[in-house]
Formats: sequence, C-alpha cells, structure tokens
Amino acid sequence: MIELAENRYGKSRVRLMKVTRHDHGHDLREWTVQVLLKGDFDSAHLHGDNSKILPTDTMKNTVYSLARSSSATTMEDYAKELADFLLGRNPQVQSASIRIESTLWKRLTIDGKPHPSAFMRGSGELQTTSVERTQGGAIQILSGLDNLVLLKTANSGFEGYIKDSLTTLPETKDRLFGTAVSAEWRYTSSDLDFDTLRTTLRETMLRTFANHDSKSVQQTLYAMAESALEAVPEIDEIEITRAGQSKRNLRPHRRAARVYRSARAAKALRLTRLATMTGKHTDRAARIISRCRQIATCTEVPGEITRLFLPPPMHEVHALLRDWMEAAGMTVRVDAIGNLRGFWPGLKPGSPRLLIGSHLDTVPNAGAFDGILGVVLGVAIVEELKGHLLPFAIEVIGFSEEEGVRFSKAFLGSLALVGKLDAGTLARTDRSGISVRQAIEAYGLDPAQLPAAALANEAFAYLELHIEQGPVLENEDTSLGVVEALVGQTRIELIFAGQANHAGTTPMHLRHDAMAAAAEWIVAVEDYASSHNGLVATVGKVEAAPGAGNVIAGKLTASLDVRHADDRTREASVIAILKLAETAATRRGVHVTSTKQLEQPAVPLDPHLTALLNKAASQAGFPGRRMTSGAGHDAMILAPTIPSAMLFLRSPGGLSHHPDETVLPQDVEAALATAMEFLAQLRDDDRTNPRDGHA
Ligand SMILES: [Zn+2]
Repeated sequence: MIELAENRYGKSRVRLMKVTRHDHGHDLREWTVQVLLKGDFDSAHLHGDNSKILPTDTMKNTVYSLARSSSATTMEDYAKELADFLLGRNPQVQSASIRIESTLWKRLTIDGKPHPSAFMRGSGELQTTSVERTQGGAIQILSGLDNLVLLKTANSGFEGYIKDSLTTLPETKDRLFGTAVSAEWRYTSSDLDFDTLRTTLRETMLRTFANHDSKSVQQTLYAMAESALEAVPEIDEIEITRAGQSKRNLRPHRRAARVYRSARAAKALRLTRLATMTGKHTDRAARIISRCRQIATCTEVPGEITRLFLPPPMHEVHALLRDWMEAAGMTVRVDAIGNLRGFWPGLKPGSPRLLIGSHLDTVPNAGAFDGILGVVLGVAIVEELKGHLLPFAIEVIGFSEEEGVRFSKAFLGSLALVGKLDAGTLARTDRSGISVRQAIEAYGLDPAQLPAAALANEAFAYLELHIEQGPVLENEDTSLGVVEALVGQTRIELIFAGQANHAGTTPMHLRHDAMAAAAEWIVAVEDYASSHNGLVATVGKVEAAPGAGNVIAGKLTASLDVRHADDRTREASVIAILKLAETAATRRGVHVTSTKQLEQPAVPLDPHLTALLNKAASQAGFPGRRMTSGAGHDAMILAPTIPSAMLFLRSPGGLSHHPDETVLPQDVEAALATAMEFLAQLRDDDRTNPRDGHA
C-alpha cells in the first residue's frame, strides 16, 4: 500500500515466529512487525527516480531476511537494525518507524508433562516496542506491555459468580476490582538490556498492583506507574492506559494511533521524569555555584559582598540574570520595586503560574549564596526543562530587597507582590535621608507602576530554595530540609528589682540579690527550652545596676527571646518561663516585672505543597528533614496570600551573613533534583491541579 499523497508508506503486519533453542527444546514467540516510512516520495516519483524506493513486497522479504541474519535477540535491537537498514536503502526516507508486538506461545502439557515441540497460543498479553529513527540518527524507543488483564479479590469469604473479569457486581464491589491495562515507556538510551528491563518493569508493576492498598483503580494505576519509574532509571516516561468504557482505548485503534503518531488516547496516566540527577558533584551544580560567585562580584563596597536596596551594582546583577534567563527562553522584566522577573510559559496562554524565587540583596559584608542561590537555582530549573512545557507557567523572581538593612524595613520586594507596600513604607528614609520612593526613581524605575508588581491572578504556588543559615542539616549530615513553618517570636524585657547593698556587710540570708535571681532564671530558661521540642529561648542581654563589683545588684534588666513554629506552644512557653522568673525572684525577695516588646505569629507554609516537596525530595533520593525556619524569608510574606513551600540547603559550618558562607555542590544538585521532581509532582497532583486554575 503506497500512499503517495500522504508522503508515507509502509507494510503492516508481517508475522514472524521467533524460535529460541535451549537444552530442553525451544521457546516460541510470535512477532507481528509493522513498518512505516515517511519521506518525500512524491518528488522521487515525479522525477522518475524510484529505483531507490523499496517496493512494499520487497519490504516483507526484508523483514524476514533481516530477522534471519540478525544477531539481535530483543525486539528493540531488531527494530533498531531494521530501521537502520531501511533508512540506508531509502535516501528519500526521513524517518522509519518500526512497531513490533510479541506474544508467547505456550508449550502443550500432555499427560502432565510439557511436550518438547508442541505449542498453543498463550494468553492475550503482548510485549510491544515502537522504534522511530530519523535520517541523521535520532532515535526514540518506546516499549510496553499490552492487554494485562488483572483482578484483585479480598479474602472476604465471597463465593459465587461475577459477571465477567472486568465488571464487578454491586454486591461484590468492595471485594473485587479488575482492569485491563496497557503500559508503554520511553527509554533514555538506545543501548540497553531491554528484556531484563522489561521483566523488572513488569514485575514491579504487578507487585504494586497486588500490594497497593486502595480501592481506586486510578490510584492503583498511578502507583504502578510511580513504582515503575522508581525501579528503572533507564526510562524517563511511562504511560499506563486503561481500557475503560470508551472503546477508543481498545487495541486496534491504539495501535494505529501509535504507528501514525497521532493523538494519544485520552484516558492516559502519564508520569515523566523531568530530569535525571545524581546528587554528585556535577557540571550543573558547579555552574550554579560559579554563577552565584559571579553575582557576588557586583558590590557597592569593593572587597566585600554588599548590595543593599537597589544600588547601582544591582544593574549588573539584573544584566547577568537577564542574560541567563533569556538564553533559557524566558521573557524578562523588572517591576517597579526592582524585582527581576523571568517568565517561562505553560502549555496554554493564561496557564496557572508557579513562582520560584528568593532575594538579590545582601547584608553588609555578606556571603555569596544567601538569597541569590534561590534565584540562580530558579533559572537552572527552567534550563533543565530543556524547552518542555508544563500545564503551568513558571515565574522566577529575584526579589530586590529582603534583608531590611537600608531602610530598617525588610521584605520590600515581596511586600510589593502582595500589595502591602504602603505609602508609609515608600516614605521611609535611609541614613542619607533618601526615601524608598527616591531610591526607586534613582534606579530608573517608576513608583507609579507599583500596582503592576502585584502577583498574577494565575499564580497558584510559591517555592523558595534557600540556604539553611544554621547548623541543623550539617549536624545530621543531610543535604536538604523541608520547611514546615517560619517560627513565631516573642520578645520581652524583664526587670528584676531587689535591693542594692554593701557586698561585705550584708549577710547572705538577708540579701535581695537581683543578679542571683536573674542568674538562676537564665539557667532555668535554658533547661526549659532544651526539654521542649522545637522551642528556642534566649536571654541575650543583661544589664545590672548599679553595676559595681562591691555592690549587690539592686536591679537587673534582661531580654528574653522565645520562638516556636506553633503559636500556642510559644505563648504557653512564655507564660511558663515568666513563672520561672517569678519563682527565682520570690525566693530572694526580689520583685520581677515584664514588658512585651514584640509578638510575631508563626507563618505556617502550605501543608499540601510541603508534603509534595517532601515526597519530591524522597523520590529524588534526598529525604529532607522536616524543620522550621528560625529566620524570616520572602516565603513568610507570600505564604498568607499564596500557598508556599520552602526548601533549605545545608549551610557548611552553619555559617551565613559572612564572607565565608558557602554551599556544597552535591547539595545544590540535590536541591535541583528535588525541585524538578516537585514540578512533576505538581503536574501530576490532583489536589493542586494547576491545570484547572487555582488550588
Ligand atoms: Zn536570605
């Protein structure tokens, strides 16, 4: 069948019997081979030169003769050879697609013994492969299993008839479910041990089917696909299709669809690895680190890394990031507060939008990674997509200001996104009397455009990657931490009022020593916090009066800082700690008073996104430690408005806000791998469902 109008021709359904000999006799497999060639056959015929075009009757013989002479033992290897051969013989051909289906013939059992040479056709289960090769060598290998008819029963004591193997009767529906399944996966290389991998995939999927504890077929199929992806790193995509009520999914049509590469069946569950990563020191990680170091050279104080709010060197930072973003295919803008924003589109215009960001500013004499690493990683995430479009768009944001150094007001960049940058803030001045508004104008931006900095309606989630800035991950020898909440904080000033008196003449039992009362309390604070999970409490400052070596302290002023991720725990702890002060004071006839100076509630991050991020880290091979952030971050500002999640990378030495601040390449790779897996989780997640709009 030559279809010149369609510029393609081929041969459908050449049948072969593949015989494998071994000690006990031989095994039999039936192969059905289909060939489809695409190319400019029209012009070949019009110019009268069709001598190089293989006629279809010859093609059938080619399939046979190559099968006889080939040393390939797997369908995939044979299909590669056949495609190569056909491309070599037909220069007009642009691509050759070979699809093979293989079914096992079973040895007949006669008188209870397997017969050495007699067979019958076995179950309907098929092994499939589709190899497509183009002139020039590009190759794609899909393999699969077709028509696995599966049924699960519970050991419920049920006995009797069911309607058929795929339909359950109402009275048995809790005990039985069955489904007919096809799986097809894509190999990442064309040189693999295909039969062994197929066996592993088949066993993994069947094991998951048997053991997965769910009454939903859909969920079970999803789990099967996940387990297959996890078990075999040599595949990067798997599609599991169920033969549902719609006959569209049935085999004859799907075969045609595959060979002709038209639209896929609608009811497909597809999981794709967006990228394969190793957790080792890689070029990718090295490039990210060197970009951070390159940005660190943009500074307002030579010899240091210092970038406060929108200094002239921030133009260089923007230029570097803009170059990298544009090279990755993103469109870039700077909003009116100076946030740099790179946009990577989704599958459709107006797709939901995932924000990935962190900050571009630093504290004075800072390190090279606090903040900036999260932005550079955001760019790397889009680079890793290699042009792949997701059901959601991605906006990578470099926030202009987070540290709050220049105007003693933190988070200017993220506040603009959530519309909380008020007139009062714009009027704040720095030490030279320059206002926020003036600083914006001096940078060349227009404060009147601030409303346009607000986050897009399409935004459905925010992800921030940031160094831990603490010793927890290093102490546990872990790359990553999944942040559950940014802690709340209470700051209190306490005054212990006793009686100042002569250090020599006042006997011990007649003293009212404010210093001793405070000292006992300070140690009690340390004990209390140490014995309460997740609580940190600090007395960082004491001031004694009159403050002389030969005078009993009459008055002592002490600071108290209490932090916890859970506000109620923090509040209860503050009450308990104040009571401890009371106890230590009363014992000495000292009077204690307290004044609350700051109370800031905890900011929980989105539990569902956090669970997805945690899962992503595990799947990427870097189980994250769940933790709280003791410091503030842009995620704190965004979380009340948009579901947010945050990933910490280990801080070597627990060091930050210091020129020696650094990050390990393997942790950067782990964070990137986790982020890519997180994108896949988001894409496949029903609850977040960014396909349909807001979460
Ligand atoms: Zn930071």
